[in-house]
Amino acid sequence: MTLTHEVVNQSSPLVDVNLFDGNLPLREGLAVHLPAGALAGAEDRLRALGAVAGSAAMQAHARWANVHGPVLRTHDRQGRRIDEVEFHPSYHTLMSTAIAHGLHARPWALGPGAHVERAAGFMLFTELEPSVLCPVSMTYAATPALRGNPAVLADWFPRLTSTEYDPRLVVLRDKTGVTMGMGMTEKQGGSDVRANTTRASFESDTPWGRCYRLVGHKWFFSAPMCDAFLVLAQAEAGLSCFFLPRVLPDGRRNALRIQRLKDKLGNKANASSEVEFTGAQAWLVGEEGRGVPQILEMGTLTRLDCALGTTGLMRQALSLALHHARQRQAFGRPLVQHALMRNVLADLALESEAATALSLRLARAFDRQDDPFEALMRRVLTPVAKFWICKRGSGFAQETMECLGGNGYVEEGGEGVMARIYREMPLNSIWEGAGNIMALDLLRVLQRAGPDVAAAVAAELEPLAGVSPVCDAARARVLDRLQGVVDEHEARRLAQNLALAVQAALLRRHAPDFVFEAFVAARLDGSPGLSYGCLPARADFEHLLQRAAPA
Ligand SMILES: Cc1cc2nc3c(=O)[nH]c(=O)nc-3n(C[C@H](O)[C@H](O)[C@H](O)COP(=O)(O)OP(=O)(O)OC[C@H]3O[C@@H](n4cnc5c(N)ncnc54)[C@H](O)[C@@H]3O)c2cc1C
Repeated sequence: MTLTHEVVNQSSPLVDVNLFDGNLPLREGLAVHLPAGALAGAEDRLRALGAVAGSAAMQAHARWANVHGPVLRTHDRQGRRIDEVEFHPSYHTLMSTAIAHGLHARPWALGPGAHVERAAGFMLFTELEPSVLCPVSMTYAATPALRGNPAVLADWFPRLTSTEYDPRLVVLRDKTGVTMGMGMTEKQGGSDVRANTTRASFESDTPWGRCYRLVGHKWFFSAPMCDAFLVLAQAEAGLSCFFLPRVLPDGRRNALRIQRLKDKLGNKANASSEVEFTGAQAWLVGEEGRGVPQILEMGTLTRLDCALGTTGLMRQALSLALHHARQRQAFGRPLVQHALMRNVLADLALESEAATALSLRLARAFDRQDDPFEALMRRVLTPVAKFWICKRGSGFAQETMECLGGNGYVEEGGEGVMARIYREMPLNSIWEGAGNIMALDLLRVLQRAGPDVAAAVAAELEPLAGVSPVCDAARARVLDRLQGVVDEHEARRLAQNLALAVQAALLRRHAPDFVFEAFVAARLDGSPGLSYGCLPARADFEHLLQRAAPA
């Protein structure tokens, strides 16, 4: 063999770093939003999770779980129907790690601040592997919705909040922990669930309440190896919400057939399936005919998680870009010393910090539901954050990928993570209500609580008042629109302007001046650049980059 060249000027993989310690905006945000007495304990737990999630060993599990995706086994060797999905052992390692850290249940088991702490943990874990968080998120979200059937909740709550991951498909009493999923979307319509055709026929009264038989299908049914699901089906009084366990109380498997697994763009480690119910037994949750509001109790929490997930992915992509730009030399200097690359990276850092601020703010609203102001902010900010943060994700992923040059587009090796992030990014924007549906949901909140919303948003935006003409104009742009009826054509514009104004107000209140000022210049001043990297030359690039540095 002749040596043709030496490999030089390639950046090292970003592994064995503590993702919590390296995320200054997240740590500062926790100090703002957590009750004083809860901060130290939360920091200890998140630091432990940050070390695990950033470790080379767990990053390898993330890669294996994605490369060796789930496989559907419809039948056993003797031809019996089993409807099981097999996962690589790394998937189970990731699941047990997420559940051991309470990401599926902490707020239901702990006290004040638990949603904020869990939100931070969810974002950190996303940087390790987002797709296993699908069943983790659905388990977290399903638990409060089960209050609509107290008997089921009483039996399932101890396992839903257990920190042991138990993937076995066995009867509840033999399980050490359980997970849950949800089934709303059918072939003929997902956003418009009223078009659901799955039928539910009442069968009998049981210790878990009214039991029905379901016949029909679901076109998207993620994590079908969960132990139970909340599903929508048409009963006599209309669309209703049902609890459907995979294994029945007598130990038999429920009549749920997994038809096939989806061949997805990304989210490869997670199984998403198409299923049919062939007379599956399911128990009513809430009232017959009130299925949509009932299951939306779950949907509100999964929408929070979409915002958190995209924020986590943004942070991961930013860290990879910053890490690479510090090491890679071009034209005689590291990339990070080139003016235009500094502008791009600083602008991405602003986007990531603003997303972190909005995500934690929203999680705080979930922690304080007994406060009417926070309850209203939860209602307003959930669609706004889900819309805006998730919508910004794909462009962000593309720009961070470009910072790595050609290596960013290649799947293999350390930087291959970037391609995985890029494929994952659009998902949070689509599922749990796509962009338009979120913008329309914001209009619905305004219709129902109009003047109260305007007053609450005015209070939230108070930090912008009188700061500068640009800030006053941004505040007025939103508050004026909240006064009257908003045309549907303008719903996205309102959601965008509201998101940007709330992000600016949060940065004004809690971030250093150089972050706030650069954000205002880049996002609010009326002529912001349409691509990343258009910050004005006066921005404090040095401090913006230092602040965002991952280690
Ligand atoms: C990987 C993956 C996993 C999933 N897992 C699950 C799951 O576990 N359980 C589950 O129930 N679902 C799941 N879904 C389905 C997902 O929630 C739906 O795909 C989504 O809600 C959109 O519904 P749809 O596909 O029927 O599209 P449609 O409802 O047809 O929407 C198409 C487009 O039209 C827009 N639109 C719809 N109505 C309006 C309107 N009134 N005004 C303006 N625009 C409108 C939407 O914003 C969207 O952009 C999953 C989807 C994916 C991709």
